[in-house]
Formats: sequence, structure tokens, C-alpha cells
Amino acid sequence: MQITIKKAETLKQRPDSKKLGFGTFFTDHMFNMDYEKGKGWHSPRIEPYSSIEMAPSTMVLHYGQAVFEGLKAFRTESGKIQLFRPKDNLKRMNRSSKLLCIPAIDEKFVLDALKELIKIEKDWVPDEPGTSLYIRPTIIATDPFLGVRASYTYRFFIILCPVGAYYAEGFNPVKIWVTKEHVRAVRGGIGEAKTPGNYAASLYAAEDAHEKGYTQVLWLDGVLQKYVEEVGSMNIFFVINGEIITPMLNGSILPGITRDSVISLAKQWKIPVSERRISIEEVFSAHENGKLEEVFGTGTAAVISPVGEIKYTDKILSINSGKVGVLSQKFFNALTDIQYGKIQDSAGWIEVVL
Ligand SMILES: *Cc1c(COP(=O)(O)O)cnc(C)c1O
Repeated sequence: MQITIKKAETLKQRPDSKKLGFGTFFTDHMFNMDYEKGKGWHSPRIEPYSSIEMAPSTMVLHYGQAVFEGLKAFRTESGKIQLFRPKDNLKRMNRSSKLLCIPAIDEKFVLDALKELIKIEKDWVPDEPGTSLYIRPTIIATDPFLGVRASYTYRFFIILCPVGAYYAEGFNPVKIWVTKEHVRAVRGGIGEAKTPGNYAASLYAAEDAHEKGYTQVLWLDGVLQKYVEEVGSMNIFFVINGEIITPMLNGSILPGITRDSVISLAKQWKIPVSERRISIEEVFSAHENGKLEEVFGTGTAAVISPVGEIKYTDKILSINSGKVGVLSQKFFNALTDIQYGKIQDSAGWIEVVL
């Protein structure tokens, strides 16, 4: 398939790279491609960023059949532009699609298309420390039809968004609230897919947490409400008595790429790491015994998000006196150093664009 390119006639005024925030500014162009049953994916094109016109009956608006991804491109000190583990994102997108009955994309073709798009938008990749170009590939069901079935047509698109340093105000631990009233996902459902419905399902609990003065929700498993699953929309790690523990992938946890990167680094550094079930009681009893050293979340946006306080029922647990832990800092530094090309990538995680 040949990608058609239509350049924008007028370019947007680019925002001040010190005031980017997250998710507000979008670049001049986007990648689009359509799917039709019997025809497959077709008409790949890079064109000006624009609205998508759709009928009010468009299936995605009613039944939520959609998947997305989130990854970043980084500008190195020498001015190169590089991606972090993009092949893993596209592979995961296909896994999510399978759970939502969305047809697979050609991962290699889409990676090439993404690189083409970034080359056209290269001046949008910011160079202030900690900034990056956030990439949002998305697939939506587009049949104009009311009735529950998988759509016969889809739109795939990629939009790009320059984003500011996540820790502009410093690397500060967050306070999290363990909810027993809400669950995010259950095994056999779509918890392991990156799909809008999971986010919609998390809003009510998040608002509840905010009202109680907490930044994020710590999710327990949906059946017993006993085992820890995720924190907000991040994976979670505990350091107990020198061992790194993260909940094993059980079908209701999103297989994070940052999660996988942290596990790989821990193994490389010969730090004991295990993927297993961990109950909230175990976390509290480790704390009582003075063995709970660190807690942190992992995800593309924040990379590492240290946790300073956990509230569960009427108990409040303070971790590492609310300070950033040694390993949290070490993982954050190592991952960002690889992403910004400050240290050699020995794992094949970096894909140079330009
Ligand atoms: C995207 C996401 C993560 C983190 O995945 P990364 O690949 O590390 O960005 C974790 N949990 C949920 C629910 C997510 O949607």
C-alpha cells in the first residue's frame, strides 16, 4: 500500500514549549486509514489534522467499539528523534483489537506510516528537558447502524501531541485511595485491552478519590476485592524487603510496556523481582513489620509515579516518609536516559526516526 500525502496549506502557530501541558495541542497533520469488510485496510494517507465527520448513528458512539495506544517520540541531545518500544505498542493494539472484534492492522506498515508522519511533523518534537511528542493511534467502529454487533467498517488514525515535562514541579509522591466500592475490570472482560470503556468505568471512582483528597484510585481485583491490580491507569509495583513485586497479568490487568521495561531492568540489575498475586493485607502487614520500602506506579505518561500514602478503609499508611524511594528514582532515571538517548539502549527498545 502506498501512503498518499496531502500537506496542510497553512501551518498552526506552535505553542511555547515551556507551556505544553498534556493533551491540549495537536500537530498540523494526522495519519488516516479505513477498513471495509471484504476489502481490508485501505486508503492510507497523511493529511491535515481535521475533524471526523460522522453520522449520529455511528456505532462507536453507541457501543464503544474502539481501541487506542499511547507512546512517545523523544528528541535527543544531538537532535535526533526516537521512539520507545513502538513495536510493542502496535502488537498490544492488535491484542486489544482482538478482544473488541476489531480487525488487525499490519504492525510493520503502521510503524512505517508513523515514522513518515513524525518526519513531516519533526519541528513539533519539543526539545525542552522532559518534553516529548505523545502519539495516539486509535481505531473506531464507523458503521452508521444501531444494533449490537461488530462493525463492518473502521477508521484508524494517529494524532500527535507535544507534551510538557510530567514532573515540572518536581518528582513528587502521590496519595492513593484503595476503593472497595468500585472495580475497574474483571477476568474474562476487557480489562487487559486499551479501550475507552475501561476509562469511562474508572471516572466515578476517580471523582470519589478526589473528593476524599486523593490523587488516584488503587484498584483491587473485581471478584474478591482482595488482591491489588492497578493504580489509576498505571501498573503498580511494591518493594518489600529488597524484593520488587508487581501483580501478575491475570486477564484484568493492562500489560503495560513501562511495567515490562521495569521488570527487564530489575532482572538486568540482578534485583529480585516477582510477578505474583499480592493482597492489600500483605502490603499493610509488610508496612507494620517495617518491610515496605517503596510503592510506585508505571505508565508512558509519568514513566514512574512514586506513591507516598495509601488509604484503605480507616487505615492510612505512609511510605518512605512520603519521600521518593531509591529504586523509584533509579528506574525513572534509567528509563528516561534510554528514551532521551543519554545512555546506550542494549535491549533494542529504541527505534530511530530521524
Ligand atoms: C496504558 C495503561 C497502562 C500503562 O501502560 P504503558 O504501556 O506502560 O503506558 C496501565 N494501566 C492501564 C489501565 C492503561 O490503560
